[in-house]
Amino acid sequence: MNAIISGLRKDPEKRIRVAYRLALLAMAALLGTSYFALNAALDRGRNYAITFKDINNERMLSQRIVLLSQHALGEKVPAHRASVLKLVDKSLSDLEQIHNQLVELVNDQRDKNDASRRVYDVFFTWPSQLDFQIRSLINNTRQFEKLAVTAPDIAAIYLGPMEEIASSKVLPAMDEVTDIYRQQTGSSVALFERIHLAILILSLCLLGLVGMFLFRPLARQIGQSNRELVAARDEMQFAATHDGLTGLANRDYAISEIQNATGRRDDNLQLAMAILLLDLDDFKTINDSFGHLNGDKLLRSVADRLNSAIGDDGVTCRMGGDEFLIVVKDQAALAELTTIARRVLNRLNGAVSGSKVSTNVKTSIGIARYPTDGSNAEELLAAADLALYAAKKSGKGTFRFFNEDLQKQLNDTRALEQDIDNAIAERQFKPVFQPQINTATGLITGVEVLVRWHHPERGVLRPAEFLSAAASFGRMPDITRLVLDQAFQTAAEWQSNGIEFGRIGVNFSAHDLMWNGFFRSIAQTADQHGLTCDRISVEVVESVAIDNDDAQSALALYELRRLGIQIEVDDFGTGFASLSHLNRDLFDRVKIDRQFVSGIDRCDRVRIIVDSIIRLASALNIKVIAEGVETQDEIDTLMELGCVEFQGNAIAPPMPADVARDWLLAYRRTGLTTIAEIADAG
Ligand code: C2E
Ligand code: MG
Ligand code: MG
Repeated sequence: MNAIISGLRKDPEKRIRVAYRLALLAMAALLGTSYFALNAALDRGRNYAITFKDINNERMLSQRIVLLSQHALGEKVPAHRASVLKLVDKSLSDLEQIHNQLVELVNDQRDKNDASRRVYDVFFTWPSQLDFQIRSLINNTRQFEKLAVTAPDIAAIYLGPMEEIASSKVLPAMDEVTDIYRQQTGSSVALFERIHLAILILSLCLLGLVGMFLFRPLARQIGQSNRELVAARDEMQFAATHDGLTGLANRDYAISEIQNATGRRDDNLQLAMAILLLDLDDFKTINDSFGHLNGDKLLRSVADRLNSAIGDDGVTCRMGGDEFLIVVKDQAALAELTTIARRVLNRLNGAVSGSKVSTNVKTSIGIARYPTDGSNAEELLAAADLALYAAKKSGKGTFRFFNEDLQKQLNDTRALEQDIDNAIAERQFKPVFQPQINTATGLITGVEVLVRWHHPERGVLRPAEFLSAAASFGRMPDITRLVLDQAFQTAAEWQSNGIEFGRIGVNFSAHDLMWNGFFRSIAQTADQHGLTCDRISVEVVESVAIDNDDAQSALALYELRRLGIQIEVDDFGTGFASLSHLNRDLFDRVKIDRQFVSGIDRCDRVRIIVDSIIRLASALNIKVIAEGVETQDEIDTLMELGCVEFQGNAIAPPMPADVARDWLLAYRRTGLTTIAEIADAG
């Protein structure tokens, strides 16, 4: 019991449920009582009413019989007397019938209550003996009827007792019965009233209790739930429009702010809005050197400073990473954008406190104005981005407005984007093939696929001229698909014609690896052309190879490896990677970048670096290839250091498919085994 009570105390919802059920039960009990009491009273009332009527009839008939009998005796004309006697006879049989009914009723009701018992006594016990008196009256009247025609004088003898019974026996007895019923009816009405008064009072009490224990807590509970709902909705709204780390408005909010402002164009205003796009210079280095936690603290501190620098002049948002945006709509502030930008730079550039490490933060700002620099959110953000890029280029820690030169750049970028889209549609991207050989075995270890853009006006373009633009427009996957399709088709043809090429090596950017289902698509393309995965190798640059944070690209590489595809680290040595950072279970080969190969025969410092790379790689059981070899001396020096695999113009330049095919066939026919022979033949 105690447990139940303490459970109810702790759980307000349960308390309300229990109170609600109890209230329902109590109401049902009250209604039930009221119904049964009313029914019982009505029943009793109905019985009394019937009995009352019968008693009155009996009284009236007994009087009538005596009066009619007197009248019959006084009637001289025999025919008239006979008709009066007929009436006497009818009344008599009515009286007898009603009396029999009454007797039956009184007998039935005898033990029902005190009143019924008293009525029974009036009917059957001395001194009233109503039943006996009525029956005497009936018997005397029958005798009277028999004699009244033939011997009226003798009949008159019966009339006296009849009058006596009717007036002094039957009438008082009937009065007594009537009194008893009247009393009884009065007391049952009083009882009924009392019961209903009690029910009314109980109902009112119940209503009070329901109000106190049910509606009040229920109202409190509803109020509480309502407040929680409103708070949850506000929190959700806040989370949807704010950045979790800094508490500033987020990218979505910023874009909707710009869209709202650009949607409500006011032709009278020359300048209706401006956006200031901020980027912390070298934040990645700060993050890498001091850790992400300190990086987060730095971003929070930047957000605080930004807020205090902007005040009511604009809305401050975090676009993501180390990029912030200020939306300015206030007319007075718009007239002073240069002052605002300087104020922000003053506030942000300098040592940041609040994090354990003290760092010098520099910020660059790009400013775009509406409507001059763009007509919608996308255009304005692109303009601010270009202005920001220009600010960074001009020395960091400063700001630039979007201007005509930048507009031209923007137009060029848009034109290039359009150009690349056309090139994809018209399959203007084509592969060239560059062989790789092993000088120790004399075998071809692979052929690298390199993309070329056969531009209708600008001629054949190298990857450096378009790849980064294509990546920034998100078109890398399309270009990769085109190149892979053609390269795998060529490799499959070589394979079916028995032309040895080792593995076909394809270059993948970080964007390719982020493309969902990428590895499945490679396997599918290879399969379509009948090329097996063990004839494919994939080259990724150092930064992609060691970026362990990027789970998606690491996962894609593992999936490729699982398919039997060889993974290689391209341009090795150009980044910060050391061989010890590489997962040797994942990578099969490193490609020493051309900058360590070029002139290696003439530079001791480079030779020492490459020597250590080759030694460590061999200790880790990772193969090494030198790329971009151009001279015999470079090859000789590298061979002295233990490198046996080479790729470069010294062996063969990147070639179109048919030329590469002839080269591979010629290489096999001549059966060259030393690099000198190959180089001579080349
Ligand atoms: P990479 O993968 O390191 O390719 C080697 C680059 O060195 C190629 O430049 C090749 O033409 C060049 N090369 C080869 N031998 C010599 C030589 O003896 N001397 C000199 N000076 N250069 C030589 P390319 O074709 O301009 O490609 C540049 C980069 O573009 C590639 O570097 C690769 O990272 C990227 N790339 C090329 N094709 C693709 C592609 O289809 N997809 C992706 N994602 N990237 C590609
Ligand atoms: Mg490569
Ligand atoms: Mg390379």
